[in-house]
Amino acid sequence: MDYGKLVYKALEARKNAYAPYSGLHVGAALLCSDGAIYTGVNVENVSYGATNCAERTAIFKAVSEGKRNFSAIAVTSDLDRLIYPCGICRQVLAEFNIPIVIVADNKGNYKVHRTDELIPHAFTEF
Ligand SMILES: [Zn+2]
Repeated sequence: MDYGKLVYKALEARKNAYAPYSGLHVGAALLCSDGAIYTGVNVENVSYGATNCAERTAIFKAVSEGKRNFSAIAVTSDLDRLIYPCGICRQVLAEFNIPIVIVADNKGNYKVHRTDELIPHAFTEF
């Protein structure tokens, strides 16, 4: 799939972000191996620790619908620079073997990374 299309889906999803505290709207789009796409946004909470990032929202939606095989995830925000997944999201990317992360700015410019570049030596089974 054209990564530009996945970035566009993330940009569109961003509009649904619930971000009354940070004011930063983040969108993600997860491409499943079967071609399905699940989007996600950041969902903030007055108790900040209860906030869920856009990437995890997309992943949890897909997993809860039975998806287990993924090709790539795109993430973008209101920022005019690339935005990268936080540490918790990187661990979740590793858990579900999502191999490619596309980070984008608010214009759709993007850069492609392998997940193992973003989280080398991820925590795995013990
Ligand atoms: Zn995160």
